[in-house]
Amino acid sequence: MIVRRRWTAAATTVILFSAVLSHPASGAAAPAAPITLSATETALVRVQLRDQAQLDRLVATGADLANRPRIRDGRILADLVLSGTQLAELTAQGATAVQIVQRAGDGERHYAESVRAAQARTAAGLRAPATGQRSTAAAAVDTLQVQQAYWWTTTGQTFLQAQVATTATDDPDVEITVSWRTADGATGSFPLYRFEDSGEYQYHYALPQPVPGRPVQLSATSSLGGASRAVTPTLWPNATPPPLPAGYQKDFIDAYLTPTDIQARIKRLARQYRDLVDVIDLPNKTQGYRRNAVAYLGNPAAAAVVVESVRFGDQGMNGVQVRTVDPGRANRPLTVGYRDRVLTVSLATDTAGKAVSTTDEVAAAINARQPDRFRATVEDGSAGLPMPVAGPARLDDGLQGTEVPARPWTVQALRLGVHRDGSRVGVLAYSQEHAREWATPLVTLEFAERMLANSRTDPATRELLEQVDIFVIPTVNPDGANYSFNDFAMQRKNLVNHCVGAARDPKYRTSWGVDINRNYTVGSYFDGYVGASANCLSGTYAGTAELSEAESGNVIALAQTHPNIRFAMNVHSYGGYFMWPPGAYRADGRVTLPRPSIDESTLFLGSARRIVGAIAQERGTVTWPSQTGPVADVLYSAAGNSADQLYYELGIFAWDFEVGNDLWNPATNQWEGVGFQPPFDEAHGESQEYAGGLVEMVRVARDYAAAESAEGHGRTH
Ligand SMILES: [Zn+2]
Repeated sequence: MIVRRRWTAAATTVILFSAVLSHPASGAAAPAAPITLSATETALVRVQLRDQAQLDRLVATGADLANRPRIRDGRILADLVLSGTQLAELTAQGATAVQIVQRAGDGERHYAESVRAAQARTAAGLRAPATGQRSTAAAAVDTLQVQQAYWWTTTGQTFLQAQVATTATDDPDVEITVSWRTADGATGSFPLYRFEDSGEYQYHYALPQPVPGRPVQLSATSSLGGASRAVTPTLWPNATPPPLPAGYQKDFIDAYLTPTDIQARIKRLARQYRDLVDVIDLPNKTQGYRRNAVAYLGNPAAAAVVVESVRFGDQGMNGVQVRTVDPGRANRPLTVGYRDRVLTVSLATDTAGKAVSTTDEVAAAINARQPDRFRATVEDGSAGLPMPVAGPARLDDGLQGTEVPARPWTVQALRLGVHRDGSRVGVLAYSQEHAREWATPLVTLEFAERMLANSRTDPATRELLEQVDIFVIPTVNPDGANYSFNDFAMQRKNLVNHCVGAARDPKYRTSWGVDINRNYTVGSYFDGYVGASANCLSGTYAGTAELSEAESGNVIALAQTHPNIRFAMNVHSYGGYFMWPPGAYRADGRVTLPRPSIDESTLFLGSARRIVGAIAQERGTVTWPSQTGPVADVLYSAAGNSADQLYYELGIFAWDFEVGNDLWNPATNQWEGVGFQPPFDEAHGESQEYAGGLVEMVRVARDYAAAESAEGHGRTH
């Protein structure tokens, strides 16, 4: 859903010079060093937006939103992948950068550090804003209901989160303040913010607030004089997994893993645990880490034609040259010839012997005479200009990863279990649909190896492998991942370029590809749902059709081929979410996909609490109640996402993780985002805690199957 909220502060307009940004004058913590980003640098930036309209424009234009926009101190915060130029534009429109979550080079450094460290081992709140609360002596005109009040403690700090509804639903100016008291008698208060969904008032809420101890009482008052009953906040998630037995083995992740590393890990696990593992080659090979070779013929700043090979660069086209020549004689026609790996365009001349071909004529001639080898388009701004004598220019695919095999990639799944014959309830965990989410395969591989290693020593793990058939796809999108590791850290999509015409200009090379998690069939862009784009350069490009991509087809093929799969977890990063369907709504009327039945909603939420509890067991990370729920409610509408197809079409209870919860910074009293490629220690922590969550999902499946066999239900299609 597009999140609609009220904000109370006036917009802070920041004048931007050379993309050097300063902190806002108010509404945030004391300024640290100014946030700077050069024009061509790409980074993940937490931006305080000017207003809801600015957010709506960003969503409508397919901005690369990394996270659900949040509200803090009444202002909207969004995490965006931006170039310095884009950030400058946004800032000129009134936005303010508040945190560089990750710079483009950070991932590469964190990867290198993680590998070095692994090798070494082998060898060896919130400030309370001024609420501007009206003083109201008049009689109450609204009543308040506390819908949720949860508390938890993590790393020694207790937090409180509340959700309160007013009966004055149509008054956008109602302000609600929550007051709390701890067991020790400490008291305090904080403001809530209005939350609308589909233009309808839902409730007021705030980010988790630090409190000095266990809260035992909470109540709310409104600016209209309304008051709630006092309630006792509930412990969240209040579910604890079985304790791990002595000697339980974990921590199988000691560095970030590239797709090649993942392939090797799959192979090793299959060899090491032969009796418990099958490796499944998924049916659709991907394009591979490959691109067409391309060159500018001419000067793109003056007059140029973009010449591209029809085949990939690795198919003999890297190094091919292209040039234009002056024939040196009068009255010559425009000709195109290709020999000895040189494409030569001889320009037409007039009666005086002057070259007279235009850029358009040169492009058209190449396309007409060499359609099997080359595609040519006129560079933006060069239409109709005289074509200069230029070149030879060398065509190149531009790929930097010299150790990545340039051939179609076979995506693999691990199948784990004692009975891998479809007779047991199936669970599917899959990760890295989005290339840049480097921590996610660490989660699924840690999970897989925990199940296998402990099956030999821990009877409880052995029993799970007796009862459950586990499928794991560690990297759904290896081509994009290879590109993210070698070329462009912020790559989200796959490597298939469906752009035509001017959008194939290599200056857009980091924007090509299909968003795999927008390419599925249910609630898709093609069905009129929100949260995907038809623009091939958008971060959420849906592809040419539903399941147009090998990668998405593989996930569905695995689920279809194994109808015993009843539970699935789609592992993404970052932000700390736990979600389930519906994941999309229609543009027209903002109608979501059907809500699960009461029984299924109960199962989704009850299981979520168990799994959130298991995640917290590792290092105390608690996924917020406000980020636990249906995708469309707690994150945003994601048209054509995989979980929706698994749930609505295949009857699978399909969840999504966003691993990488915000970290509380007690120095600034702020929640801070961790990004896609954090320093390895953080990614490692995520792998450990979320692997524990996946183990709990296996227990949920086992319990469900046991109850089901007692009742005799089957998967609903
Ligand atoms: Zn993702």
